[in-house]
Amino acid sequence: MSSHNHPYGKSENVLGFGEDSKVFIKEEPLKDMFLHPDVKHRKIVAFSIIGAYRKGKSFFLDYCLRYLYAHYPSINYPNNPVSNPTNWMGEEDEPLKGFSWRSGSDRDTTGIVMWNDIFLHTVERTGEKIALVVMDTQGLFDNQSSPMDNSKIFALGTLISSIQVLNLSGVIQEDQLQYLQFATEFAKFAASSSQGSNGKCFQNLMFLIRDWENPDDFACGIDGGKNYLENFLEVRSEQKPELKSVREFIHNSFDELSCSLLPHPGKIVTGVKKYKNLMYDGSHSGMDEDFKDELIILIDHLLNPERLVFKKYNGCNVKGFEYHEYVEHYFKLFQSDELPQAQTIFDATVEKQMTILVNLCFNNYKETVYKNRDALNNQSNIVILHDGCKNKALLMFNEAKKMGNNSHEVKFKKILETEIDKLYEEWGNQTIESINKIADEVEKTRVAIEEK
Ligand code: GDP
Ligand code: MG
Repeated sequence: MSSHNHPYGKSENVLGFGEDSKVFIKEEPLKDMFLHPDVKHRKIVAFSIIGAYRKGKSFFLDYCLRYLYAHYPSINYPNNPVSNPTNWMGEEDEPLKGFSWRSGSDRDTTGIVMWNDIFLHTVERTGEKIALVVMDTQGLFDNQSSPMDNSKIFALGTLISSIQVLNLSGVIQEDQLQYLQFATEFAKFAASSSQGSNGKCFQNLMFLIRDWENPDDFACGIDGGKNYLENFLEVRSEQKPELKSVREFIHNSFDELSCSLLPHPGKIVTGVKKYKNLMYDGSHSGMDEDFKDELIILIDHLLNPERLVFKKYNGCNVKGFEYHEYVEHYFKLFQSDELPQAQTIFDATVEKQMTILVNLCFNNYKETVYKNRDALNNQSNIVILHDGCKNKALLMFNEAKKMGNNSHEVKFKKILETEIDKLYEEWGNQTIESINKIADEVEKTRVAIEEK
């Protein structure tokens, strides 16, 4: 019931709405998580759940945490033996810990809450190193949040997750589709200004329907959900134009759309029936069997090591330190009173991606200068070295996958060239000593170019 007593992690309210709906951001925990030495160079998988208040999101996530701790080591538990992953649900009577659930009728936090422990995994087949982050959204779509706050939080959740679970109760309601409008708008901009086919903008979206009451029409689970979702997303003449458009474009916005139908968890879980004459503590002995069976299948489907989905911007995986830059950047964009337009956010994403790329290429220049400095013994060698390294950096820029249009590319290539030329001038009289000065700088910025 409380998040304080979990042995390995706690929840951090990294973004929230304060007085007058002003967005606040907590920068320190974000740095601690994504710039952690074990995380900053790993590819990010970002798992998030979003939806209305008091619909079992945190309860569900706490079982996800159980699964994760039974399958993966983490930054706070690096030597986790994960000896018995098949029994990940744990003991029958184990009270549920993690994200705070059933917090009473008051909302304690709103916004985005991240689990501050990050899970680590290496893909056997490819050797890729992964860092998996889990996030929850609190107290949304209720009568206390404005539609603006809801739209903001939903857009943010979509931008920063690679597996997003949209938690809904009973059925999908027509007006809930409006929260996907941002994603489809954003994807349209990306498609119209993209230079090549870089895949879809967002990764996986799962509609998770709780308390499913129509198993005769569509069976519980993922297959029944697939049929239900296909039926719901069919375009019909009587639908509102903007929601018709969401239906038409949603397939172009996400790599994978899915749906899962979960049965009602039973009267103990919902608090109608007493649990051993005590307050229900979340343990799985209190769940109805059919709910428990479906929950086990669903969580394994979402978080199985074989199925993890990387977070991508413009078709490129992002590492911890890059993800940190995107998250901070997006959070700040959403601090304005207005809801930023999809176009504005798209432009900001292009700029961010280009800036990260320019930094990588600039560091590549410094690195090659540094590596080749021993061969220097006269002035003309220095010029040749500079030209060679500069061309290599520009080639790296040209060959990278990029978002945006040609004018973005021209602008940022110019920035890269200017940076390089400026540094070259700073070598002063271009002596071998000044090259050594660059060598010092390379050491300082090595972080960004490691593990390329
Ligand atoms: P959140 O606000 O969406 O994070 O909801 P919580 O996880 O805090 O859960 C709110 C209440 O719903 C708790 O009393 C849970 O026991 C209960 N609950 C958990 N799962 C379900 C479910 O699938 N259906 C229903 N009706 N209640 C659930
Ligand atoms: Mg919650």
